[in-house]
Amino acid sequence: MTIINATVPLGLIKNIDDYSRIINEILKHNVSFNILKFSTTPEGINLLLDVPEEKIKTITESLTKNNILVNKKGRVVIDEDICIDCGACISLCPTDALNFKDDLSVNFSEEKCIGCLLCIDSCPRFAIQESR
Ligand code: SF4
Ligand code: SF4
Repeated sequence: MTIINATVPLGLIKNIDDYSRIINEILKHNVSFNILKFSTTPEGINLLLDVPEEKIKTITESLTKNNILVNKKGRVVIDEDICIDCGACISLCPTDALNFKDDLSVNFSEEKCIGCLLCIDSCPRFAIQESR
């Protein structure tokens, strides 16, 4: 599975239910997928989705044709100078990419990170950013 970010742009939104345009478009491809996060941003209505890797090209083309913005997600970076090792991000990470070292400082494993970005909002210090 692969994480993508699909956004209904602000200019196309008439009401909050317009996020269903993303879901209905993906359902046309007869695939299983997960919605990891729903959010509204200055860019529009945003869904973070976990979709099958082998269908990523088809799904992206189909969404783009319908004016949905699609980005494949990157990884995150943690600013160790700001992090206070509180551990708030660890419980949200679905892949154990974030965990405690023996000395109770936070360890980030880039190989395990799938870029779901669930950890970003959990950080009280804003120490986690999406890598570009
Ligand atoms: S982006 Fe997702 S997988 Fe990566 S560290 Fe954050 S919660 Fe874990
Ligand atoms: S939530 Fe932020 S401050 Fe706390 S351990 Fe994670 S990165 Fe560090």
